[in-house]
Amino acid sequence: MTDPFEQVADGVFAYHHDWADGLCAIVLGDDGAVAIDGGGDAADGEAMAAFLRQHGREPTRLIYTHGHSDHVWGAAALGAGEVFSHELTPGLIRKQVPSWAQRWGVSEKEAASRVPWPTATFDQTMSWHLGGRTIRSIRTPGHSIDGTSYLIDDCKTLIAGDAIATGIVPALNDGDGRTLEMSHRLLLEKGDQIDVLVPGHGPVARGDEVAACLRWGASYLRGVRRRVRQQLVSGIEDQDALVASCSYTEFVGERFDSESHHMPQRHATAVTKIISEERTRIPDHPNIWDSK
Ligand SMILES: [Zn+2]
Repeated sequence: MTDPFEQVADGVFAYHHDWADGLCAIVLGDDGAVAIDGGGDAADGEAMAAFLRQHGREPTRLIYTHGHSDHVWGAAALGAGEVFSHELTPGLIRKQVPSWAQRWGVSEKEAASRVPWPTATFDQTMSWHLGGRTIRSIRTPGHSIDGTSYLIDDCKTLIAGDAIATGIVPALNDGDGRTLEMSHRLLLEKGDQIDVLVPGHGPVARGDEVAACLRWGASYLRGVRRRVRQQLVSGIEDQDALVASCSYTEFVGERFDSESHHMPQRHATAVTKIISEERTRIPDHPNIWDSK
């Protein structure tokens, strides 16, 4: 088995897990350490906790990028101390509890008790000082409403969570396409502060790849949305026709391996989500869009 811990900067490690090439992170400072996300299986959190102990730190601080199951299910071994998240994360976790209870065949109370819940939340920004290094939150919603990325200033490393996908088309999930495009553009503006980008899923991006992947994601989201709007404004309402107007070849092409991660299906899912968003945003009288 290859080592799941990949050092991406001095004292910063990406932890690779099996959920769609998923990534968590560990940040070591002089005075403390944090784990960011817990993966999808208990074994993920346990491996990260053991790694922290090997480096002389106790797993006492966990930070969530967002509340989706493949980021919180594995976190039990990391959650005995403080658990930080954006203030919308507890609500997002709560929403999923009934489906987890059903899946595991247990009560909702039992299902809820299997993941560490945030003990401290923030609304705008939060910083953590680990001795010799600082981690700062950057809100990057769009994949999920609570999406938050974390920038480690000294080594210009961003733990992006699922806001940014490097190995798949942008995943809108229960978020919003426009918001996700804005999050891509916000990070692009901070380009000189980011040398390494650790996504929630996919390979770590470095150097020029960082801006390239942010730029591609933003233009993909904008391109699909523009096409969908054009179609809706011109009176095309049929769902299949709308989906067909955003072909995989045109919008994704050779960017990713179409054989991996059900990529054409992922593209269709993103297009479908954007269609549902745009349907609610086109007023009844399309003529208003014709005037300048
Ligand atoms: Zn997610």
